[in-house]
Amino acid sequence: MSGKSASERREALKQVLAEARGCTRCAELAATRKTVVFGAGNADADLMFVGEAPGASEDEQGLPFVGRAGKLLDQLLQEIGLQRVDVFIANVLKCRPPGNRDPQPVEIENCQDYLRRQVALIQPSVICTLGNFSTKLLRGDPTGITRLHGRPEVLVLGERAVRLYPIYHPAAALYTPRMLETLREDFARIPELLDLGPPAQAPDQPEDLQAPEPLPEEPQDGERAPEVDQLGLF
Ligand code: URA
Repeated sequence: MSGKSASERREALKQVLAEARGCTRCAELAATRKTVVFGAGNADADLMFVGEAPGASEDEQGLPFVGRAGKLLDQLLQEIGLQRVDVFIANVLKCRPPGNRDPQPVEIENCQDYLRRQVALIQPSVICTLGNFSTKLLRGDPTGITRLHGRPEVLVLGERAVRLYPIYHPAAALYTPRMLETLREDFARIPELLDLGPPAQAPDQPEDLQAPEPLPEEPQDGERAPEVDQLGLF
């Protein structure tokens, strides 16, 4: 997997998207959702954000973080010189919990395979977990965001080491000025984390043994694959 080119990984991500769109692992969520909010952005991003679950606006539009918390995320990104097209944004749950209730443990368990496959295919250097749910899931530990925010750590997820960077969830910061200030300070450190590049990988990783990635083929004029089937998600 790790030796795949960016375009092969993007194709594989489309397969995961197709699977997720038909998912019925959580009967209640499958029955009440309008759309599966798989995630969106650059499928080869160095930086990935993982939120909690879609809300009403996300469920309507099929896109992550398009409500008020999303506007704040856009603003914070802009303040560090980034845009949505530079990053990939996903959630722990791909379906909206009715009434925006908290994700249930069984739903997190059912859904986590999609997130792990997204991480394995996108191969980010840095994953910002937004709030408690994604932080606890990816760290495999119940320590909360209040203690962990702003502290990057190297973590092995699947076959790769990543820099995990827990920060407050923008929705929580919307109503608490002090939390917003902290979120902004934590956000300001993202560029230096990105500058570090990916963390060292285990020496016996298969990718170390493989031939260099072939350069992606440049499409000729008029040959660019139509993207309508993916609704421009990534
Ligand atoms: N909150 C989240 O955690 N995710 C979204 O997509 C929107 C709001």
